[in-house]
Amino acid sequence: MAKTVTEELVFEYWDCDKCGQKAIRGDVRNCPSCGNPRNESVKFYLLEGKEEKVEDLAQAEKFKAGADWVCSFCEALNSITDKNCISCGASQESSEKNYFEVQKEKELKGAKNSDPEKPEDWWEAKYGKPFNWMKFSIWTVILLGSCITSLYYLGRTHEVKFQVVDVSWERTVPVLRYSNKEGIDWENELKGEDIVKLKSTQEIRSYEDRQVGTKMETYSESEQYQSGTKKDCNTNYESTGSGASKKVTTCNDVPTYSSRTVQRTRQVPVYQKFPIYGTKVTYTANMYVPLREDTLKGKDNNPRWPDAILGVGEKGKSDTKGEPKAIYIVELKKINPDDKAKDIQKIKTTEDKFKSFYKLKESVTRPVNVFEEIVLEEGEEKIDETEKEK
Ligand SMILES: [Zn+2]
Ligand SMILES: [Zn+2]
Repeated sequence: MAKTVTEELVFEYWDCDKCGQKAIRGDVRNCPSCGNPRNESVKFYLLEGKEEKVEDLAQAEKFKAGADWVCSFCEALNSITDKNCISCGASQESSEKNYFEVQKEKELKGAKNSDPEKPEDWWEAKYGKPFNWMKFSIWTVILLGSCITSLYYLGRTHEVKFQVVDVSWERTVPVLRYSNKEGIDWENELKGEDIVKLKSTQEIRSYEDRQVGTKMETYSESEQYQSGTKKDCNTNYESTGSGASKKVTTCNDVPTYSSRTVQRTRQVPVYQKFPIYGTKVTYTANMYVPLREDTLKGKDNNPRWPDAILGVGEKGKSDTKGEPKAIYIVELKKINPDDKAKDIQKIKTTEDKFKSFYKLKESVTRPVNVFEEIVLEEGEEKIDETEKEK
């Protein structure tokens, strides 16, 4: 990595404290407007956007010789190369301070005089603008308020009186008969009793992936590579204290990177599907199988089970009843046409409510939500008329 350091001298500028003339070049010792010599109060600075190199070698040497000295008698700033004050002629030996020492003194004085920072400013400087809790609280209250209001509105119900205009029930009992049945199943999955195997065959039951070898595969990959270098420069200014700044530019050649796609190869396994065989058995066995379903319906509030008549199956075994099913439906019509509720509402309800609450022709009061639908209780289900027609 190549490193280059360039050093040059650039002019500084100063302002006249007597007439206010600005940006007087560092090699000028008396104000061009009023003739006032530059003195203790001067502070050298660099001009942004305007940089003038000190080309004259003799001038450069004078700048580099060192900081200006302050005349103890008239406060004028003099070059270190001048043995006597250009304003009053006093000797350099009788001077007590140079430019830098004066600047340091001013800095110390300035630090003492400036007010201790206010706590708020200190906070702002460290963490930025303080968080506005007031604003935050107001917005929180507004947002929370509207959430609660809408939840309250959606959850609001009102009581509506309905008349039970229709009730219907349907109860079903499946009947199972012990029968001899033929089936085909895998050997370890045969069902039933008194199994008689009729035939067995070997069949493919599943497949398994097995590695049979390897192969070379090409694939592309992105990689980083050094595509060149660029100059990374850093500039530093150091005042001579005599009206110029030493400008030191340090540059490093740093690598730059790009990415490119490269083709590579790799070894990958090769798989093949192998069939796994199983034994399939054709057999007969005795078991309970569905025979029929007995259903009873009614349009009153007294549901009854069908009289399922049980017969006799294989080996003299009696038929059995399967899991019974029941449906209870009620149709409600609102009594007062002005009530906010859908006129007719059909509900699938529970056995308990069907028998004791929704009595045919009687009136019931139910909560209705903002969508004008009855709020259902556990075990209840809405029946959509349009859905049912499908
Ligand atoms: Zn002036
Ligand atoms: Zn003097």
